[in-house]
Amino acid sequence: MNERIERLRASLEEPLLVTNPVSVRYLTGFVSSNPALVVDEDRVTLYTDFRYAETAAKVEGVEFVQVKRAIYKDLAPRLSGRVGFEADYVTYGIYEHLATGEAELVPRHGLVEALRAVKDEDELQAIRAASAITSEAYARLAAEPFVSKTERELAWRMEQLFHELGAEGPAFETIVAGGENGARPHTEPGDRKIGAGELVVIDAGCTLNGYCSDCTRTFATGALPERLEEIYDVCLKAQEAALERIRAGVSGREADAAARDPIAAAGFGDAFGHGLGHGVGLMVHEGPRLAETSEDTLVPDNVVTVEPGIYLSGLGGVRIEDLVVVTDNGPEVLTSFTKELVTLN
Ligand code: ZN
Ligand code: ZN
Repeated sequence: MNERIERLRASLEEPLLVTNPVSVRYLTGFVSSNPALVVDEDRVTLYTDFRYAETAAKVEGVEFVQVKRAIYKDLAPRLSGRVGFEADYVTYGIYEHLATGEAELVPRHGLVEALRAVKDEDELQAIRAASAITSEAYARLAAEPFVSKTERELAWRMEQLFHELGAEGPAFETIVAGGENGARPHTEPGDRKIGAGELVVIDAGCTLNGYCSDCTRTFATGALPERLEEIYDVCLKAQEAALERIRAGVSGREADAAARDPIAAAGFGDAFGHGLGHGVGLMVHEGPRLAETSEDTLVPDNVVTVEPGIYLSGLGGVRIEDLVVVTDNGPEVLTSFTKELVTLN
């Protein structure tokens, strides 16, 4: 019996058409760029095209039906009665195809995402292993000089380390932001060479068995201007304060405030312009959210990032990000690489 399917069924008011490939993977283990899954009371039907047919036929616990590559056109006449669909993953074009059939289409939000936010033991094992690789990759990267390498070279080196250490690949494009580029939280690594006496923000993660890790560390290349030392200190204390707060029952807003309040008190409130963190799983960004506008409350076995940052335009930035498992008694911190400011050449 597929426990994930059973948990989904318990939340359904009508059969659900699952079209998000990540959710199809979560529910069945089947990986495809063009799948659809219909979960109803007594049956699970998997649809995909010729390219994936051989693999799909071997998926356990589902009935496989091969359809044309234009999957929704082919699917529409096969559906009838009330059918829920994933409103956040069905484009208007897909909807038009589905609407040519007889089914009464019911928009549904976040049903599989709610399940994905709470990890089972297999998922936790994969994320722990991906995090261990990531921490080791940071340790190896920090043993090499940064100064006069370009951001792009450092990003590539990080991705090489992930492969050397047995990861499937990067979970997202590695961010390396030196000097004033560090003031832009999600900048792309460029041809700028790392100089001496600046902060370098590196945000990277890898995947293992499809599961992501996510970690940010900020390094110093020599002695820093006082203001940059100050923001590192403030950010680190805020990050630690937020970790102290993380446990089941705490809201995403409360967790965010635990880091945001001390940063604001130090005079950098406007310089922390993003949320504290996000869930991590098959996707590097998923539920729950830790932010001022979050409506989520943490429960055991959520896996979330804790990543405050301070960004000073024209000067530089700092972000410190750990990945943690939420428990009743606090966080299980999966990221082991040091958070003390590491100074290298
Ligand atoms: Zn990150
Ligand atoms: Zn993150």
